[in-house]
Amino acid sequence: MGYGAVARAIGPIVSCVSERRRVGIFGGTFDPPHVAHVVLAAAAMHQLELDVLVVTVAGVPWQKVGSREISSGEVRLEMAEAAFAEVSGVEVSDMELRREGNSYTVDTLHELSAEDTDLILLLGSDAAAGLDTWGRHEEIADLASIAVFPRRGHESAVPPAGFTWMPLELPGLEVSSTDIRRRAAAGVPIVGLVPSAVRNIVESHRLYVPESDSP
Ligand code: ATP
Repeated sequence: MGYGAVARAIGPIVSCVSERRRVGIFGGTFDPPHVAHVVLAAAAMHQLELDVLVVTVAGVPWQKVGSREISSGEVRLEMAEAAFAEVSGVEVSDMELRREGNSYTVDTLHELSAEDTDLILLLGSDAAAGLDTWGRHEEIADLASIAVFPRRGHESAVPPAGFTWMPLELPGLEVSSTDIRRRAAAGVPIVGLVPSAVRNIVESHRLYVPESDSP
């Protein structure tokens, strides 16, 4: 078979492959979203050549519930919309907030999956290492591939066996929502750790400030 015939034969396959949508999913509690989340989202769009990145704000992050008070879904959604506004291609979704009960990533993946779509789940390496503690994690492995971003202090953490994953690049940013909440509670500046639009929301709602410190 000459080149022309081969090209005719594989042409539809190639165009079919290239027409697949590449959809990233980046979930979090985002209490609050911080600069590492934003850098990670932009890096994912670029490195994975995504068509869209869906940022999902967890409704009931069951692995965190009980360990601390979690800000309302409404204000976390508002902060996420503000934080990711500058990353083109990102859609902040309230799909997990609208769902009843605990937020399971597997349900989100089912909702987003489609015949023509490749789903790529973005995780910091700390979260990736614990994937086998997530609800119905075997289904996650069937529905999506995993993109792992190194997180300071967890650089060598990798997903458990059974997941298809790829390592991506991210500048090491020692930033966490936990640290930002602590700073805000102590009246220490959070300038630069969160986008300024997020800082305005934190300050206007007096988020993370202990009740006893309120006027
Ligand atoms: P908390 O301190 O409250 O646990 P967090 O800073 O880890 O919050 P989450 O909203 O829980 O933020 O994180 C969502 C996702 O972002 C997770 O996959 C997490 O691994 C990743 N992530 C958060 N901060 C970083 C960071 N500094 N570097 C790389 N990945 C990060």
